Amino acid sequence: MFRFVEQTIVGGGGGSSPLKFGNSTSSLLTARIAIEQLEYFNSAPLRLQGLAMSTPLQVVDPSHVIEEDPLALMDEIEELKEREDATILAHYYVDGEIQDIADFCGDSLQLARDATTVETGTIVFSGVHFMAESAKILNPEKRVLLPDMLAGCSLAESCQPKPLAKMQAELRAAGRDIVTVAYINTSAAVKSLCDWIVTSGNAREIVEKVPDEKEILFVPDQHLGRYLEEVTGRKMILWPGSCMVHEIFSLQDLQRAKKRNPESIVIAHPECPQNILEVSDFIGGTEKMRRHVMSIEEPKTFLVATEAAMIHPLAKSAPQHEFVPVPGIMASTGETCACNRCPHMARNTLQKVRDCLKHGQPEIAWQDYFADAKEVLTRSLLR
Ligand code: SF4
Repeated sequence: MFRFVEQTIVGGGGGSSPLKFGNSTSSLLTARIAIEQLEYFNSAPLRLQGLAMSTPLQVVDPSHVIEEDPLALMDEIEELKEREDATILAHYYVDGEIQDIADFCGDSLQLARDATTVETGTIVFSGVHFMAESAKILNPEKRVLLPDMLAGCSLAESCQPKPLAKMQAELRAAGRDIVTVAYINTSAAVKSLCDWIVTSGNAREIVEKVPDEKEILFVPDQHLGRYLEEVTGRKMILWPGSCMVHEIFSLQDLQRAKKRNPESIVIAHPECPQNILEVSDFIGGTEKMRRHVMSIEEPKTFLVATEAAMIHPLAKSAPQHEFVPVPGIMASTGETCACNRCPHMARNTLQKVRDCLKHGQPEIAWQDYFADAKEVLTRSLLR
């Protein structure tokens, strides 16, 4: 289905500089995934809500790419931040070097809240499209930049507004009294159709708030939905979506890692499939994970079943522990691998952060349906 080639790509909705892929395993993997996405986006130009790609991505000769010094890039970003009156927000899943220069780092909930406290006129959101959209929705008067407009989310993509509206209409026509609860990983167009927005941190509390006589339609993550059914004892209608990163963890990978580290503690994100959650010692979203490892003083080894960049904030917050990504060890070499990297988050690079500050684009534009999404987002996450 996909071509795997080593190439260099330019584009991404306005970024003017080429994206360089080096020779490391992770760079090569990112390059391969980017090619998959290139074909995906070029074949379906209107994939992201409110985003029409006017020009297809181009594949260019890698010899034209100039490698830039990360430290020089960081200095340049600092200067541009001043010049452009900007604040940088970074999700825990973007590269550690971006987290290091960010003013705020956190999970989706924390960053949505942080965005409302920003005093500068510009927000650079180093994360994925739905997160930057939320920042714009909550701060309509600010300019919100996303370093790469093609940083989408497979989970958000799995639930489109039209099919959701159709399902809601059919359920209501059949006499079902439904409340739609959406995980924050959804587009603003989908959020505008929902009654509640949840994150992995507050999902349980909100699901428990819904009156018993109502049926819950939970979108888009079936794994998180199933986990919530288990912890709340509440049956729900589950949308069949999932995250491409958390879907790839196999029980076998985890068992192999556990065998290599018999004393280790398994911590997993609730977006992981049920068979992974069943063998985990602790289940929680990224912020909950961070707080959990910080609460343990004695040095431990944690096997981390979520996006691999999460190791950076965990190690920074609790340096006494060792953190091993799952799947984390290549049997052949014993080296860690990056196959649990989110290709969308990996689209964020220092170079693109610099470029979006320099050129003032790509920018999230206000859409009509943001007003409805704002109402539900504010009610769910900020009160
Ligand atoms: S890790 Fe999964 S849920 Fe998170 S942004 Fe990437 S694709 Fe979306």
